[in-house]
Amino acid sequence: MTNKIISHIALLFCIPLSAICQSKPDLQFKLKYGDNRMVHVKLVYTPIEKDSTRFTYGEPNFGGQPDIIKCITNVNVDAPAKLITDAASRSFTISYSGEKPVTIEYDIVDTTTKKKDLRQELFRPIISNDYFYCHGINLFLNPQLRNADLKPTLSIEWKHQPNFPLFYGFDPEHGGKKKVVSTVDSVMFSLITGATDLSVDKFELHGVKNYIVLRGVAKGSYNRQSIRHYFEQFNESIRSFWNDYSDKCFSLILQPFLESGHDVAGVAFANGFIGKYTADTILNAKRIYTISHEVGHHWIGHKLEMNINNQWFGEGFNDYITFKTLLSAGLLTPHDFENRLNEVFKLHYSSAIRNTPNDSVFANYWKMGDYNKLPYRRGAIFAFYLDNQIRLASDGKQTIRDLLLSIAFFRMSKPSKYEISIEDFINLASAFLTKAKVSAIIDDYIVKGNPILFTNAMLIPEIQVNIENDIPQIRIVDEKRFMELFK
Ligand SMILES: [Zn+2]
Repeated sequence: MTNKIISHIALLFCIPLSAICQSKPDLQFKLKYGDNRMVHVKLVYTPIEKDSTRFTYGEPNFGGQPDIIKCITNVNVDAPAKLITDAASRSFTISYSGEKPVTIEYDIVDTTTKKKDLRQELFRPIISNDYFYCHGINLFLNPQLRNADLKPTLSIEWKHQPNFPLFYGFDPEHGGKKKVVSTVDSVMFSLITGATDLSVDKFELHGVKNYIVLRGVAKGSYNRQSIRHYFEQFNESIRSFWNDYSDKCFSLILQPFLESGHDVAGVAFANGFIGKYTADTILNAKRIYTISHEVGHHWIGHKLEMNINNQWFGEGFNDYITFKTLLSAGLLTPHDFENRLNEVFKLHYSSAIRNTPNDSVFANYWKMGDYNKLPYRRGAIFAFYLDNQIRLASDGKQTIRDLLLSIAFFRMSKPSKYEISIEDFINLASAFLTKAKVSAIIDDYIVKGNPILFTNAMLIPEIQVNIENDIPQIRIVDEKRFMELFK
């Protein structure tokens, strides 16, 4: 499972210090790590726009946290600037005259309950004597400029650091030791974390700097070695799938849950993934799947993003591509592939809400249960179906990978934050199937949400389907040939 629920994530990459304008940053954040589960923040900025600046704090859709505003307190602005707070929209508007610097101070507090639920552990600030975990939007006031073309910069400096090392997802080289300058966009949906037992392994693969950040492991320990080994295998497969070696860096952060009882969950950020797990060893088959799904979001979900109402793509297509890339990496056998897909069929076709139209999916998403799983299952099944249609129509010459690479190529010509629309998807898929067919299947299986009535004629000959109690179950009839086709 995952919880990547963000309405807008910019297309971001690690931005080295040298690439940022070296003049004074627009927003200067100075932080003090407090003893009492809090961080004191002082923000000084020179007005970028006339008369007033509106800031927001947190994002309720980020992990379903409608009361995230409770994590910010004691907000004060130095006179003569004036502060207008609107808790409902989580906004702090500061009005001023002239261009003199404005100073705002506030506290970020740890509001997680003693017994922490899974979403608290992933989406709220955690501040203690030995551990810090906070996403940018939950630590820094986020300026909402009237001119969206302005890209403000910020600096982050600890006046009183916690007594343990810090790691910044947006600037993995520097951590908390020195003042860091970056862009607001790259910091907000990234993570700052630290712990007394934090370890950072850095290594380069195909020119991309990778960081594996763990807690509670000694050098040479099982977790440290097994994660590194897994990452190298999967990285090879997924980067080869996308033919993408363009990133400067990528971080994989894995930390134990504080509360027992959760298994594994995580959230992707711009250049990496934070996953949390329970128990001593990080990796087993399910966890390898979850971590790989989250690494996969670096492409489907970040570099190729549809809006939040189309999670069938962001989550479901990502799930299907995860099956495929794990297979190529040798981390899944054809038998596992068959079992995983059959499990998805079983859960989806027996679900009472399987017919939910697409426009009602996200509205109910945080009800959890099947609502929380529906876009993953529907999207993965549709991707499997579409992969088969493209293979059949092209006589095996093309696959869903060709379609996704064409979407990635199309996306590169668009501005940052561009969200791929259903129309874009239909247009691009029409190079592989007829436009009438693509429009009809999107309307039927995605927009209306009708389950696909599979027959053998819809699948390549290496895969057959049986319908058992109205639930499709596939069987790979020729494993060797299947591996040749799906490797
Ligand atoms: Zn996901």
